[in-house]
Amino acid sequence: MAITLEALKQILKEQHEQSQVEIKQLYTKFDAELEEAKKERRKLEAELKKSNDMITSLIDQFHGQQLQVNESIKKILNLPVARPVGVGQKSRPLIPIYDIPADSKYSPEEIDTRKKLACLFRLVDDYEWSSTIYNHITMKIPGTEYILINPFGLMYHEITASSLVKITLDGTIVDRGSTQFGINRAGYIIHTAIHEARPDIHCTIHVHHFAVAGVSAMKCGILPINQEAMVAGPVAYLDYNVGIFEQESDKEELIRIVQEDKKKKVLMLHNHGAITLGETAEEAWRLLYVIVKACETQVKSMAAGENGILIPEKRALDLAYETGSQGANNMDNNASVKAYKYGEFEWEAWMRDLDSRVRKPSGWDGNNPKRLSKKFF
Ligand SMILES: [Zn+2]
Repeated sequence: MAITLEALKQILKEQHEQSQVEIKQLYTKFDAELEEAKKERRKLEAELKKSNDMITSLIDQFHGQQLQVNESIKKILNLPVARPVGVGQKSRPLIPIYDIPADSKYSPEEIDTRKKLACLFRLVDDYEWSSTIYNHITMKIPGTEYILINPFGLMYHEITASSLVKITLDGTIVDRGSTQFGINRAGYIIHTAIHEARPDIHCTIHVHHFAVAGVSAMKCGILPINQEAMVAGPVAYLDYNVGIFEQESDKEELIRIVQEDKKKKVLMLHNHGAITLGETAEEAWRLLYVIVKACETQVKSMAAGENGILIPEKRALDLAYETGSQGANNMDNNASVKAYKYGEFEWEAWMRDLDSRVRKPSGWDGNNPKRLSKKFF
């Protein structure tokens, strides 16, 4: 029997309405399942947080007990007793450095870089070489063009692994970290200029330490009159002619200077301060340490007047630099020491020192003799 057009239309209309009803039912079912899944997820997240809090609390308890045991052993052996946790060199609470949550979105390389850079801020602060919320230290995240820098507004003793700000070489903030602070303009201009001009450099430290700033204002520059100055090696100088690096064009002379002689990893900014450049954090820190000591000694030596100071022969100066520039490698015949790169051997000691005063600082593992150097680079 032939079907009429009207009948066909009616059939199609009914089928369409039926489909609509079925789709609606599917949506309702899907919404209910989605809501159920969300509830389950919230429940799991709450349980995960509870577990994490419990683990953190257990670690804190364990660390506290371990410190007590360490202190007891030290007392028995009559060794110097470390400052108690919570009371630092400046009698203020110490904030744990390593505060990145276990489920962080950061890559392992970024986490390691954050931990190491946060440790550098604490070391600089511990020596009272910081300048309140000013000055800056940066590190490049290995395998990327991203730079980590301090949030502008935090004192160095407040900086943690998670609070560091991730920026591109043109100063764009791609991750503010755990705070809402921005970055210091001069900081980004100085440091990104160096990282861009020198891809071999992964860490730069800038300080206004009083003795460094003092020597930076002397026409004679750093004199090779003490061993620290000798082992620091060749120094580059930059005239104070661009103010405090507020303009993009202020980078030009800085880029020229750091590209001119790549052996010069200490940069004295006349009438300002200094910047150390390192292929690693260990190298930049080691250079900063020797340059600060060199300047402190020079400031005191200048009491004798420039003509009253002895300067060793060039042959001796060259020998001192050659020896010192190899770091601990040239100080010990032990093969395990020789495996360390410049500054790494001392870095292990700095990390142990931080560990004695700050909980959960750097991922430092005393059971692994090459812990940081192997793990980080
Ligand atoms: Zn400065």
